[in-house]
Amino acid sequence: MTENKEMQSMDEEVTLFQSAKKVLVGGVCSSTRLNRATGQPFFARSGNGSRVLGYDNKEYIDCCCSHGAVLLGHNSPDVNQAIRKSLDMGTLCSYETEYHQEVARKICRLVPCAEKVRFTNSGTEATMHLLRACRAYTGKDKIIRFEGHFHGYHDYVYIGGHTPLDYLKSGNRVPYRESEGIPEEMTKYVISIPFNDTGILEKTIKKHRDQVACVILEPINYNSGCIVPSREYMKIMRGLTKENNILLFYDEIQSCFKIGAAGAQGYYGIIPDVCTLGKALGGGVPLSAMCGRKEIMDLFRPVGNVEHSGTFNAHLYSIMAANAFLDIIAKEDFYSKLEALCLKLHGGIECLLTRSQVKGRIQYLGARFGLFFGIDKEVTNYRESVEHDKGLMLRFIREMADRGVYFHDYGGSACHHGISIAHTQEDIDKILNASEDTLKVLQESK
Ligand code: PMP
Repeated sequence: MTENKEMQSMDEEVTLFQSAKKVLVGGVCSSTRLNRATGQPFFARSGNGSRVLGYDNKEYIDCCCSHGAVLLGHNSPDVNQAIRKSLDMGTLCSYETEYHQEVARKICRLVPCAEKVRFTNSGTEATMHLLRACRAYTGKDKIIRFEGHFHGYHDYVYIGGHTPLDYLKSGNRVPYRESEGIPEEMTKYVISIPFNDTGILEKTIKKHRDQVACVILEPINYNSGCIVPSREYMKIMRGLTKENNILLFYDEIQSCFKIGAAGAQGYYGIIPDVCTLGKALGGGVPLSAMCGRKEIMDLFRPVGNVEHSGTFNAHLYSIMAANAFLDIIAKEDFYSKLEALCLKLHGGIECLLTRSQVKGRIQYLGARFGLFFGIDKEVTNYRESVEHDKGLMLRFIREMADRGVYFHDYGGSACHHGISIAHTQEDIDKILNASEDTLKVLQESK
């Protein structure tokens, strides 16, 4: 891109952001769901299957799918029926039921590292409490995390993830605080390193082994556009953590159930000590789970002394929804059907990008994928992913919305998009047709 075009695209981005901000400042609902590409949050009337109906009365094929939470699609009859059953039981909250046991048993059968399960609401809560258990287990306080991975919004982990490129280039060794309001002291507990580099991982672990409780990662780094490390890298990580008395923590909030019922740990065949599950688990309602080896999980109260509690944890309607969800994904043809849809979509976009003059790339695994513009070779870590052209991404999203396909915008960055089992072959054809037209428009305006 020439310097002029780059500036034009940046100006456009700033203008979009300003106009979108105005929409939010004007109202009383402080929304977090701004879509810079369309200039406002997506105001939905309803969702059904693969579709969401906007307030503009326009139906969109959904390529956000509630950020990966509705793997069964919107308005799933099975999930709805399960929720109705929980309502008939009296909207029970803060009590245990036989269904809690049932869902935990199902998770233990499916997820290799899960010897015990504990439920909470969001992914953010899950990583926060499970890190607490990791610290208690090892008696150490620091964590090693990776650039471009995301683990929720609490102060333990909203540091050193999506660091601005100029900060990375500045050579400042203090990990970057991703929000105002995070105390500086928190940075001393975080060691943030590039992903996919065995040498750096080994050096860091050896240097800090006596202070580090765990290595936490997205085993499939969907939050930087779907970066999949090699099995060899994961194997080395497993070996190094074990040898150095450091726990291995897979944050599978996004990856769980997208590739298979056993998540990324099943995909690699490399099993962590602990993991978090979330998003899709609740079939679209709030539920996350902390799982792991019994001796670590037994540190939680009342067996041990690590606190984790909360009024709304494992609300019955979420548990019932998860129970239905787990039964559906256990059906024999669930993943073969999902895979066929993904193959058609991912292969189709790959083909369109290859044929188009627009430089871009798709990376994918399971039901989610990332798009990169201005890059055509494999992206293997966050620093490479930030070379992506945000302006082009925003224009892609806007043009797709005009053609009836909804993509969420993650600030123009490469992140994750996806489909559900409710998407049909015809939906995929429509997404591909819209993508083809959109790429033509982007190409012509180059
Ligand atoms: N971890 C990962 C890997 C995630 O993708 C997310 C959500 N995008 C979270 C944690 C946080 O989950 P939640 O939004 O439910 O708090």
